[in-house]
Amino acid sequence: MITAEPATRPGPYQHYVYAYPHKTAYRPLPDRPPLRALWSAEPKDALSLYLHIPFCEVRCGFCNLFTRIGAPDGLTGAYLDALERQATAVRDALGRTDDVRFATAAFGGGTPTFLTAAELDRLCDIAEHRMGADLRAVPLSVEASPATATADRLTVLADRGTTRLSLGVQSFVDSEARAAVRPQRRADVEAALARVRDARIPVLNIDLIYGIDGQTEQTWLHSLDAALSWRPEELYLYPLYVRPLTGLDRRGPDGPHAVGDPAWDEQRLRLYRAGRDHLLAHGYTQQSMRMFRRADAPPQGADDYACQTDGMIGLGCGARSYTSDLHYSFDYAVGMHQIRGIIDDYVAGTLSDFAHAQVGYRMAPAEARRRHLLQSLLQAEGLRLDDYRARFGGAPADDFAPELERFADRGWLTDSDPTVLRLTPEGLAHSDAIGPELFSPAVRAAMAAYERK
Ligand code: SF4
Repeated sequence: MITAEPATRPGPYQHYVYAYPHKTAYRPLPDRPPLRALWSAEPKDALSLYLHIPFCEVRCGFCNLFTRIGAPDGLTGAYLDALERQATAVRDALGRTDDVRFATAAFGGGTPTFLTAAELDRLCDIAEHRMGADLRAVPLSVEASPATATADRLTVLADRGTTRLSLGVQSFVDSEARAAVRPQRRADVEAALARVRDARIPVLNIDLIYGIDGQTEQTWLHSLDAALSWRPEELYLYPLYVRPLTGLDRRGPDGPHAVGDPAWDEQRLRLYRAGRDHLLAHGYTQQSMRMFRRADAPPQGADDYACQTDGMIGLGCGARSYTSDLHYSFDYAVGMHQIRGIIDDYVAGTLSDFAHAQVGYRMAPAEARRRHLLQSLLQAEGLRLDDYRARFGGAPADDFAPELERFADRGWLTDSDPTVLRLTPEGLAHSDAIGPELFSPAVRAAMAAYERK
């Protein structure tokens, strides 16, 4: 038996699994393996490139991403200097040959548009000239906040080949934005959306959050309609979480949301269903629990799941990189003091420091199976059994029988297509319960032993 049967059925909001294993399972690698050795036998003809910018104007109350508030004078320039050194070291380790090719690129954070227009230009130069990514030839996705999505920055990004701009809006209702500790005015959000559309970047994504204190079905649909009026090619609907050490968590027991509170779970499920049905009725298709795409939106090439299968190069403090048997990054923290220290260490990093992996998780073959199952099953289109067989031999039911039987008993799996393992609509709604149930005992133990900082 691979995992024990949970004593009780888990609530629907356990953990957002956007990568497996989570960074809290990573540990310092005592041997600090050289990147050259790690990458020597890896396929390198369709890599994903990710550049992380760990700066934001504010710290949203729900956010546990690796980012700091503001940057004292000169820090963004020093950070880009370090990023350039890291890019040089990593590209040397990959080999300066023509068989290294990037198939997708993304700038995330943090808020990449915290950088000035000139700094964004330099960021693109690092990706192109140091790493060899052809940004105008591949899908390039960039995250932005309304206040930093200025015309000059968007012009640079559009000129350099950005195909997707993701704007973190969260709510079009000012009081809800304040309640999520993301203070912003709707008028400023609308002005930012107009600038993004003026920049003619092909895909606009809008992030929204449900489950905010005071949010009702009516205000939620009001936010959705405000977003729909821009006809975004993509919408991400995120349930609100209160994560350890975040602003909402620091409100303590007097805060509006108690983790595991059945009434809050019920509110989020109700708003999720209302939002999903609203978008389906307005010509969107559901890609995963969170992601919806306009049915007539231009194709984006490799999708989020496929481009994360293997072969990811992450640059910047907080970015992950994946080879087939090691996931690695730098140290991780949520507390502001620790994040500042980690960024300062990164900025002081030398070419030689950047030529080694420092913190990571070794992926045993069984973990690679789990990761494939997790990341495929949580997509609306499901897991193609022939893909799994070709990659691992056998079927998921051979490797994960107890878990899959449990999901089937709960009505979360459909058997409508014998070639695909796919979630039912209720299964998709419970993605954040399904993902954590598929964590291996070893990953679970490492996450539980992680000392939060
Ligand atoms: S949600 Fe986005 S803008 Fe807000 S603190 Fe996190 S990374 Fe920054």
